[in-house]
Amino acid sequence: MSGTRRPDVTIVGAGAAGIGVGVACSMLDLDVRVLERDCIGASFRAWPEEMRFITPSFPSNSFGLTDLNAVTPDTSPAYTLDCEHPSGDEYADYLEAVVEFHGLSVTTGVEVRSVDRLTGDVTHHDERRDQRTAVDGGTTLEGDAAETTRGKTGLVLETSEGPLESEQVVWAAGQFPTPLTDPFPGADHCLHTSQVSSWRTHAERAESDEYLVIGGYESGIDAAVGLVDAGATVRVFDRGEPWIERGPDPSEVLSPYTLERLQRVVDTDRLFVEGGVSVERVERLEDEYAIYSRPAGGFEHPDGEAVSTIRTPTRPLIATGFAPTLGPVESHFPRTDGTIELTDTDESPTTPGLFLAGPDVAHNGVKFCFIYKFRARFPVIADTIGRRLGVDTGALERYREQNMYLEDLSCCEPELCDC
Ligand SMILES: Cc1cc2nc3c(=O)[nH]c(=O)nc-3n(C[C@H](O)[C@H](O)[C@H](O)COP(=O)(O)OP(=O)(O)OC[C@H]3O[C@@H](n4cnc5c(N)ncnc54)[C@H](O)[C@@H]3O)c2cc1C
Repeated sequence: MSGTRRPDVTIVGAGAAGIGVGVACSMLDLDVRVLERDCIGASFRAWPEEMRFITPSFPSNSFGLTDLNAVTPDTSPAYTLDCEHPSGDEYADYLEAVVEFHGLSVTTGVEVRSVDRLTGDVTHHDERRDQRTAVDGGTTLEGDAAETTRGKTGLVLETSEGPLESEQVVWAAGQFPTPLTDPFPGADHCLHTSQVSSWRTHAERAESDEYLVIGGYESGIDAAVGLVDAGATVRVFDRGEPWIERGPDPSEVLSPYTLERLQRVVDTDRLFVEGGVSVERVERLEDEYAIYSRPAGGFEHPDGEAVSTIRTPTRPLIATGFAPTLGPVESHFPRTDGTIELTDTDESPTTPGLFLAGPDVAHNGVKFCFIYKFRARFPVIADTIGRRLGVDTGALERYREQNMYLEDLSCCEPELCDC
């Protein structure tokens, strides 16, 4: 990619976060480029066929209540797709439509392998920004000089197509590409739920119709319901009892949509959920799998702390979430107790110019893991970048009108919901 013009903003990843923050930046007078290693909405395209969005879509934008799954203030998956709970493929179609509608520049088939601060002097030509003056620690371009030589500004991305320089970078590469596949010894004998393309096909191919799912939150229950719908009998183990727990923050309890689906299959007598089970190890035997577990902390068990063993004929499924890693940019985002440290504008505290967008964003203990949460940070990032590069950011007011602009981080405490 060497030799191409240096963009103002390069966004890594063309998922919900990358496309959404890309549109927010492109509403300003900025040169924005999205790089994607696969295709637009690749993670959604890889969802199991039967999986649906748990957050409902509704075309409520005209009342200032933007569709919960929209990534821009002016679009609605419900309106584009004519459905309330889109499949992964449908949602990827919506993202493609957003890219086309906003004329966003997305280059697919480019993997970003590292991002670093530029060192040394940089000389480049930039016609559009000749008249701008940076106001916030960014590049200062004065007068009408088109050729500028600057020291140590901007970032360099190493990509599969060569190096690329960019003034600012937003990392929006998601969690789906890094499933947590080693939560206990022997987990390599299991199959992570994110690696299954269809529950129906999975059930058809197996020699037995008995399954064990380890993990009982959204993905685990989705797998269990999908398999029961395909005629299988499923046992679900979880350390807690997510199917009973209740709370106001949908990131921490099962969604109403999932509880409804659970309720629907309860009468089949082919779904068994067991809480308080901490799986310690899985062993592959000749023609079955042995699962060793102990009672999880806080749960009583007739055998005390004893290890229980059960056997299952099919490869156990693990719904253990995603690895806490930002891959190639991990070192730019230090962590405290596992939580990524960010500035108030979602920038790396150690690498200025590098921002984070998407479900890994967290502030004050609140995870922004749903689209309707993390999208409210898109205009904050765009505003910071726009001001830094000296452009008018007034166009972002549209996000405020549509309740998609979250600056005051004190207002997202989960315990504020009493209902
Ligand atoms: C199974 C599952 C179900 C979910 N259901 C919901 C739901 O119902 N509602 C909701 O609001 N949220 C849901 N979420 C949470 C969240 O909305 C999704 O995780 C969403 O995909 C996050 O968007 P993203 O853009 O950050 O990541 P992704 O959609 O994963 O996009 C990241 C993109 O970056 C690309 N990429 C990765 N690394 C690189 C690289 N080095 N170089 C170039 N490109 C790269 C990937 O190919 C991918 O296209 C769900 C999450 C999961 C995992």
